[in-house]
Amino acid sequence: MTAPLVRLTGLTKHFPTPGGLVRAVEGVDLELHAGETLALVGESGSGKSTIGRLVLRLIEPTAGQVEIDGRDLGTLGAKDLRALRREMQIIFQDPYGSLNPRMTVGAMLAEPLRLHGLAKGRAVDAAVADLMRLVGLLPEQARRYPHEFSGGQRQRVGIARALAVEPRLIVCDEAVSALDVSIQAQIINLLVDLRRARGLAYLFISHDLAVVRHIADRVAVLYLGRVVELASAANLFATPRHPYTRALMSAIPATDPTTRHERTLLIGEPPSPINLPNGCAFHPRCPHAVERCRVETPVLTGDGHGTACHLWPALPAVPPLPAEHETSDRLKRLQARFQDQRPTAAE
Ligand code: ADP
Ligand code: MG
Repeated sequence: MTAPLVRLTGLTKHFPTPGGLVRAVEGVDLELHAGETLALVGESGSGKSTIGRLVLRLIEPTAGQVEIDGRDLGTLGAKDLRALRREMQIIFQDPYGSLNPRMTVGAMLAEPLRLHGLAKGRAVDAAVADLMRLVGLLPEQARRYPHEFSGGQRQRVGIARALAVEPRLIVCDEAVSALDVSIQAQIINLLVDLRRARGLAYLFISHDLAVVRHIADRVAVLYLGRVVELASAANLFATPRHPYTRALMSAIPATDPTTRHERTLLIGEPPSPINLPNGCAFHPRCPHAVERCRVETPVLTGDGHGTACHLWPALPAVPPLPAEHETSDRLKRLQARFQDQRPTAAE
């Protein structure tokens, strides 16, 4: 069997700070296969971006391993690491922050092509035009500067820049979170199409389950640095197991008032990652917590659909989610876009 594109084993990252040790990521085991989209979901501060940065080796793990194609990043020399990095790109929430305001978009796309010897001389302009078209922009827009584009178009530029070096993996860190719902759907459609056309894999980071549903093959739900649920997107949305996942799902806005009372709301903020609660870190916010949850940390168990909860499967069944959520305006609008629209430059 071939090794997965990405394998995380016992991945741990602690940040020493004046206030104490921040346990950002704690013993995460995950695999991402070529051509697959794995979503990392969780509230702000759950460790999603830290995992993304560890995968790209922008930061070193405190413990554990990141393997790419079965090669441990920690044992690679600078030259091998640089070669591997080209295959792993990242796009951010705010492409404006990562685009040079004084460079035209064309110059920005030409840079990596030249740097990596992917195009030379006049072929550079043609390659830039191809990239522009690939992401639904017009080749002549390459003469413009970032501020002349809309938010959605800037995200397209960010995607084009990531694609310039022909990566196999793109880490999308809240890549659509700042965009309007209709534009979100267009960018997600674009990512889905590109994945197919280019055989890409995505590590898709988002705090928004409604968005994840439309792009992910599998979903890892994170709570304070640990994976608390890991399942195919279909299974996760049909039968969420962990109380935290269920609470996140009830936070997806629903419009039908008759289903309101069935919603578990997520009360309060997550505890500080400096003073993690003993036992299950979610127990102070969990409506089902018992004594065992206060003392014993649950491990992720269950082949195919893993959950780190002492109480599952004894938890009360949840009403089937799709019916409720399909009626939310937000999702309806998203779905309409998904069915009717292919990405275009017009926004
Ligand atoms: P997410 O992306 O899920 O919002 P992050 O991975 O950014 O979460 O952060 C996880 C935790 O680690 C947070 O508590 C955050 O404050 C902390 N953290 C992230 N980077 C650093 C850093 N460089 N120094 C100290 N703490 C950090
Ligand atoms: Mg983040």
